[in-house]
Amino acid sequence: MAKKQDYCSFCGKPRVETRLLVSGLEAHICDSCIEQAQLILNEEQLQKSNHTAPDFKLLKPIQIKEFLDQYVIGQDEAKRVLAVAVYNHYKRINQPPGKDDVEIEKSNIILVGETGTGKTLLARTIARMLHVPFAIADATVLTEAGYVGEDVESILSRLLQAADYDVKAAEKGIVFIDEIDKIARKSDNPSITRDVSGEGVQQALLKLLEGTMVNVPPQGGRKHPEQKMIQVDTRNILFIAGGAFDGIERIIATRTRTNMIGYGSDKKVQVDKDNLLQYIAPADLKKFGLIPEIVGRLPILSFLHPLTNEILKRILTDPKNALIKQFSKLFDMDGIKLEIDDEVLDFVVNKSVEFKLGARGLRAILEAILTDDMFELPSKKGVKTLHITLEKAESKFSKAGIAKLKVA
Ligand code: ADP
Repeated sequence: MAKKQDYCSFCGKPRVETRLLVSGLEAHICDSCIEQAQLILNEEQLQKSNHTAPDFKLLKPIQIKEFLDQYVIGQDEAKRVLAVAVYNHYKRINQPPGKDDVEIEKSNIILVGETGTGKTLLARTIARMLHVPFAIADATVLTEAGYVGEDVESILSRLLQAADYDVKAAEKGIVFIDEIDKIARKSDNPSITRDVSGEGVQQALLKLLEGTMVNVPPQGGRKHPEQKMIQVDTRNILFIAGGAFDGIERIIATRTRTNMIGYGSDKKVQVDKDNLLQYIAPADLKKFGLIPEIVGRLPILSFLHPLTNEILKRILTDPKNALIKQFSKLFDMDGIKLEIDDEVLDFVVNKSVEFKLGARGLRAILEAILTDDMFELPSKKGVKTLHITLEKAESKFSKAGIAKLKVA
């Protein structure tokens, strides 16, 4: 007679008919019942994720800013604005439906500031804090449907990829749209050289920003008829746009001057001419060439300061994953203590500024200084410390040559 352990306790199938029979203390389960159980589990989880808020503890704005401070140096104004915007955005998502008639509208964000000042880093850090999927889209490659380039929907393909195709997770994610200024309508602005008018792209983007169901090609690129589409709801996706808006200071200057005249000569409004970006207003973005509807869909506007030498130096050492900390860790793994003189840090900053590389240049310059040692020391016995003096840094840097600097 066949023994009890020769049958699946769930479906009764005999062992010989299964690919695998897993035995427990009292019961046994076959491979197809395991698969069945997994499906039930998946279904259950999906339903839960449909009904529950994103699974993160929402920090208060002050805590959000404190989190950002660990990774991004300076830029306090942008951080405060972002912290409030993100807090409100996720409060809005968590709001139980139908409680009252007050519907909180989605508020996407636009950050204006020179390239390399931390716009992407801020957006990425917010996503890291929230553990939500994050994607970066480059507005310059976007084109209107029908033109060569990427459809705006491809932005969401990236987000889906970042979410491992978990649509529900992607629908609560964050998208950073870089170089939004490059799709500005052609105007007399000299920084715009593209032939295809940006206006069509802006119109297409509008749909996503507003919140709608979008058919997304899972692999990105252009849509084609045979491709299976994934439907994504953009209502709860937070869009953060960024751009340098080269030359916008002139627009701000003109506006602030006109406003001052409007106030009458007795009221003297002090305008800090060296930092005009702090006065940026939606009207300036329109003047620059963003269509009013786009400006309306990016109601939270903030700015980033150019990085000073002092800030660049702090970027080298202060953030949680600062470059100096990273290099120290790499040497530490070989049992070598890295000691860098303070004047070497100034040298690195000065070179980065001299070659107009900003924060992005810091790594390349450090690499140039440290590569020889990173190559040789792991094979040298008995080296316990590596001391970088200014003299050594200068000689290594001039040997490497600026032409070799690789800046991401
Ligand atoms: P943007 O998006 O404004 O062009 P990024 O955020 O991509 O600039 O910054 C480029 C790199 O420079 C970042 O990866 C980071 O290493 C560094 N960086 C720039 N600004 C800051 C900052 N304020 N604090 C810390 N690191 C910064």
